[in-house]
Amino acid sequence: MERMTRSAARVALPAFNADALLELIKLLVMIDSRWVPQSPGCSLYIRPTLIGTRPSLGVAPSDEAMLYVILSPTGPYFRTGSKAVRLLAVGEHVRSWPGGTAGYKLGINYPACFSPQREAAKMGYQQVLWLLGDGDRDFVDMKVTEAGSMNFFVVVKREDGNDLDVFTPPLDGTILPGVTRESCITLLRSHSLEPSLDSLSPYIAVHVHETSFTVGDMHKWSSENRLLEAFGVGTAAVVSAVGAIGLEGHPDIEIPEYTGGLGPVGRALYTRITDIQEGKIEFRDWSYVCA
Ligand SMILES: *Cc1c(COP(=O)(O)O)cnc(C)c1O
Repeated sequence: MERMTRSAARVALPAFNADALLELIKLLVMIDSRWVPQSPGCSLYIRPTLIGTRPSLGVAPSDEAMLYVILSPTGPYFRTGSKAVRLLAVGEHVRSWPGGTAGYKLGINYPACFSPQREAAKMGYQQVLWLLGDGDRDFVDMKVTEAGSMNFFVVVKREDGNDLDVFTPPLDGTILPGVTRESCITLLRSHSLEPSLDSLSPYIAVHVHETSFTVGDMHKWSSENRLLEAFGVGTAAVVSAVGAIGLEGHPDIEIPEYTGGLGPVGRALYTRITDIQEGKIEFRDWSYVCA
């Protein structure tokens, strides 16, 4: 809710009462509860939307707005099901830049992604891996930002021993501060304190870093056989496995395959988050009960 008020403020839309909106969403979900799908991997997607409705042609902030909430039952996000998706790293078009709007959930961020996304699809990649940096040099030196419209994580094995480093780009204004991203970081940090993610061995320490990395770094980790997992995270797909990354002029980076798509870290996060969503695990801080 805080992210929605921040996003509204960034484009000078009128403020609204976030607590009242939350109460209204609870009522709406109760009224439409028969639309909540019961099958695993399915959910009722809730999309609150705020649009400016000032009746004027002038370029000016809207002093009127309409706030509405769309509910829709959703199935698994990707057509390939839980299979790993292939990403095409794109350097000549960017979706974010310092001081821009990519750190806010705004509709304007998406249309510019459509044509690169379509080009990637023609080349056999399901999503784009968005880069940012000095594209005059090699795209390999550009920083990785996000995968499609999901936050991006990689899991890298340490050179010495079994410890795992998990990297995700930092919230420097060019990255959407996703709720799922934050949940994953919190769960992984609490794992390293007190092993709790079921499918991860309690003997493996997981170190999370909100740090920039490049496609070149991923090539290097991959050539050393240390790049164990890559995945995108977001509300719609929760955790989505990445199987390969393509970059023009370079061989594809192939990420190890796992049965069911996700590797141990991605799987542990997916299971824990969906268990919390489905109420199998009580986690009051992250849940609102509609009753
Ligand atoms: C919505 C979105 C995400 C994921 O955010 P969640 O709050 O986890 O759903 C990540 N990146 C972009 C660009 C997004 O639009």
